[in-house]
Amino acid sequence: SRRWIYIPYDRYTDRTGPLTEQPAAQTGIVIVESTAKALRRPYHKKKLVVLISNMRHFALEQAAKGVKVLYHFSPDSHGQALLHLQQSNKLPAITCMTPAERELRLDLHQAQQQGLDITFAEDTTWASSTKDFTTVYGPYKQGKSYVMDRFYRRMRQQTGILMQNAKPIGGQFSFDADNRSPYKHEVPVPTPPTYPPDTITQEVIALVEQTYAHHFGTTEDFDLPCTQSDSDAFWQFFLTHQLPHFGRFEDAMRDDHLQLFHSKTSVLLNLGRLLAMDLIRDVAARAAEGTAPMASCEGFIRQLLGWREFMRHLHEQTDGYRLLAGHVPQEPRKVPHEFSPDAPGAPRLDSETWVQGATPSALGASLTLPAAYWGIESGLHCLDTVVKQVIHEGWSHHITRLMVLSNLANLCGFSPRELTDWFWFAYVDAYDWVVEPNVLGMATYADGGLTATKPYVSGAAYINRMSNYCGHCQYDPKKSTGPGSCPFTSLYWTFLERNEDKLSGNFRMQMPYNTLHKKKPEELVQLRTRAAEAITDLQSFKRPKY
Ligand code: SF4
Repeated sequence: SRRWIYIPYDRYTDRTGPLTEQPAAQTGIVIVESTAKALRRPYHKKKLVVLISNMRHFALEQAAKGVKVLYHFSPDSHGQALLHLQQSNKLPAITCMTPAERELRLDLHQAQQQGLDITFAEDTTWASSTKDFTTVYGPYKQGKSYVMDRFYRRMRQQTGILMQNAKPIGGQFSFDADNRSPYKHEVPVPTPPTYPPDTITQEVIALVEQTYAHHFGTTEDFDLPCTQSDSDAFWQFFLTHQLPHFGRFEDAMRDDHLQLFHSKTSVLLNLGRLLAMDLIRDVAARAAEGTAPMASCEGFIRQLLGWREFMRHLHEQTDGYRLLAGHVPQEPRKVPHEFSPDAPGAPRLDSETWVQGATPSALGASLTLPAAYWGIESGLHCLDTVVKQVIHEGWSHHITRLMVLSNLANLCGFSPRELTDWFWFAYVDAYDWVVEPNVLGMATYADGGLTATKPYVSGAAYINRMSNYCGHCQYDPKKSTGPGSCPFTSLYWTFLERNEDKLSGNFRMQMPYNTLHKKKPEELVQLRTRAAEAITDLQSFKRPKY
């Protein structure tokens, strides 16, 4: 008899999990293309294209291998669609690899309570198990802090990756200090491969343009892999052409080389097209061969074996950050007007998601995220460059996310929850398990230091050192007050002032507070004036309607 397996939208793989456990002829897969899910947020159009096109290609790839495919288009959620399908087709129990996204897990559990016969298999796409996490930290406890390094070291020891005789190769676990060079044309930047849309992807683009026309971003120049073989080729390109310089320039930012040596692998990794342990082993092999330096290999492996796994465990352990101290479940309230179009025929967005996510804000940040994040030019060249890239690609690399988009939000006091939701729909690689811990924790310190030992904030000096943005900006990164001064710097000092009671006791914040305390009262007044002006300017534009 045939075993029926439901394929979640973030687990397109037959290299691990239930699809590997019986011959194709005895396997049936169920795939749901759900309009309700796509409409839940104004997801970037390219995100919908890469997700739906991979879904359709995966179905065809499996059919070509002899797997029976039940592909279902539904206006309902995944769980409701499955329930209906199972009942109408009299399907026996369905197996599902546990979805990575909490939101999908909840949807399926709800359908299960309504009668869906489904069993969850372990999600073996990850490089670690829940037990690996709890062995290091014990069960989740409010108020405890979680330092990623402990988990990472354990994973290195457990897997033997970049280890020799139980010691880290190169004498240290982390080469983070070697990952911080700005890029000044020392070596050419490779042109990443492109995968122009085939007829299936073209159909998906047409669908997205029609059904999700009001969503964020554009489908123009779509070039991401949508098949298994293109995904594999995409990865091989990184290994050969980008990895060798990835580490050294990992934190660099440029307006003429937006991607630099980053891979965009996260897009495919988070869909299950590529598996973390495969990539980790490939990169470790490059280190062993000497075809890529340790700073690159370890830097990449730290992201996958360390950060990525650590963050998803933390998300799971905290029930999507809802178990954090001080979290108060929110009463459902209306979606901001801009996201609830009332025009006749316009699809309505599900208002619940926006308001029911965890809403920690340890620093009391609550201002509305301004129109600049929707592409209304702010005149801040760093911000405008990154937002323009996000609108076009649905992607920008990690330092632009942390030190431009999140840094500015932190400095101004924009709502961490709004920023989280923005990242969730705007980035092609974003899902709840990755954005909630990264934005509420690492990027904005909204969790009060659960993962980060201090807020990641900086003035213009850091951006000027690590990028070429400031050379093309109307503002002067060396001036902190008065006309033409860079707002980041005045915002930085007023951020410190505003949060003095919460942060001045932090050992890692001593230096900036010492500098702040030496500032003359007149300068402080000027800094406050400039910072307030910058926030007012950013908030003076209306966000576009979706
Ligand atoms: Fe950004 Fe300031 Fe540099 Fe302009 S001068 S690019 S606003 S950091």
